[in-house]
Amino acid sequence: KDDIQTFDVVVIGAGPGGYVSAIRAAQLGLTVCCIDDWVTDGKPAPGGTCTNVGCIPSKALLASSCLFEEIRDKASEHGIHVEEPTIDVPTMIARKAKIVRQTNDGILYLFRKNKITFLNGRGFFVTSDEDGYLIGVEGRDETRVFAKNVVLATGSKPRQFPGVPFDEERILSNEGALKLKSVPSTLGIIGAGVIGLELGSVWKRLGADVRILEAMPSLLPFADSAISREALKAFKQQGIDMEFGVHIDSIQNDGDRVIVQYKDKDGKNSEMWVDRLIISIGRVPFIAALDAPVVGLKLDERGFVEVDAENRTNLPRVWAIGDLVKGPMLAHKAEEEGVAVAERIAGRKAVTHIERVPSVVYTEPEIAWVGKTEDELKNAGKPYKVGVFPFMANGRARAVGETQGFVKMLADAETDLVLGLHIIGPQAGELIAQGCDALSFGATAEDLALICDPHPTFSEAIKEAALAVNKEGINF
Ligand code: FAD
Repeated sequence: KDDIQTFDVVVIGAGPGGYVSAIRAAQLGLTVCCIDDWVTDGKPAPGGTCTNVGCIPSKALLASSCLFEEIRDKASEHGIHVEEPTIDVPTMIARKAKIVRQTNDGILYLFRKNKITFLNGRGFFVTSDEDGYLIGVEGRDETRVFAKNVVLATGSKPRQFPGVPFDEERILSNEGALKLKSVPSTLGIIGAGVIGLELGSVWKRLGADVRILEAMPSLLPFADSAISREALKAFKQQGIDMEFGVHIDSIQNDGDRVIVQYKDKDGKNSEMWVDRLIISIGRVPFIAALDAPVVGLKLDERGFVEVDAENRTNLPRVWAIGDLVKGPMLAHKAEEEGVAVAERIAGRKAVTHIERVPSVVYTEPEIAWVGKTEDELKNAGKPYKVGVFPFMANGRARAVGETQGFVKMLADAETDLVLGLHIIGPQAGELIAQGCDALSFGATAEDLALICDPHPTFSEAIKEAALAVNKEGINF
């Protein structure tokens, strides 16, 4: 042990949970080592799923596909005439790869700036004693380090359909779907969750014929039902074909086509033939590479690392955060937990509020929500008030031609406290931050209604929804 470097904290995994936790721990004066195994083009690529094959690359392709669609479908109404645009997919993918690399390099810079030792390889448990844990590293870096505290942040992997491995050519996870070489003429998607909808709408905008099969009886069942209904209407108008309540029987890849055999909602046998198939049926926590049985790490019945409300595992001074543990599989939730755990290791108090974690679906229109849905309030028997404001009545939305959707605010019938904010429409992912602020500061609808917002902006739709909660709407 004398020859082995000891750290106050060893973080395994440098996704948004792990790298943020490492930085916060270093800021608090702890010695920190962060181990991550991701390598792209022979270089370390910290940032995890989010940076490499999730949040960042999907939004890069979203931007490209929206620009293409605007030029193709909307330019002429502004009096801008262009020849029929074409899409050069390899250039679009190369632009995405450059953005990902900038993000990887940014994280490596932050590690250096905060004096964090970064090791590129698989991190795994070797042994433990009363002082801490011996962690092995194998990959580009080969070494062993001793950890007084361990933060596990190894994230998740796409769930495979039983017996159907991803070949990333025709049967795609998020990884393959973010690096297709051309626009497929037909794209099937199994699973109408956030990832399926986002990736499906990227390729739809670029010209693919998109069909989505979903096992659940309705779209986005966790969103407020008014928002889900509006989203379904919008996606159908865009020509995205969706079927709900299906049961998938088999998936075959004949080399040319993928054939999906399924039962529709009435139990009738059906088939879907597509050029490419994205399977987005959820993600599973990724623990396998940690050699966790060596130290007896406990998992819950769903295979997540079992943690208490403060992200402690069953092992002393071992913490787990992000997609590896219960709760929404979102980058900002992983970051929150990463910061809170670093604070606790440093002996400070920290609280994470899972109920205030916002959700965003980056489709067109964008969808975002935070707090309670109307159904949740009804089921809890909580008296509430509702304020709705359509983007059609918002000047900025009309000016930019993005009038679909609305803002819906829910407030406590007695105290007027904001309980939930639900948005479908332009910049919903940006606007929802106002709902996060309101819930965090304990704002009432009246508080939001009294704020002077700039005109003309989408933000005014939030103020108008707040006014509408108390039946004082001005513009609708
Ligand atoms: P991860 O980001 O998965 O990082 C874990 C890291 O640990 C990886 O680099 C992994 O290789 C490494 N690792 C695993 N085992 C070991 C080991 N033994 N040793 C060393 N390293 C190891 N979330 C959002 O909030 N907003 C979005 O817009 C969004 N878009 C998404 C789009 C797609 C297509 C996908 C797939 C996901 C998206 N997500 C989004 C979800 C988000 O990416 C995850 O919630 C987030 O990355 C989880 O962070 P994490 O730190 O827990 O793990």
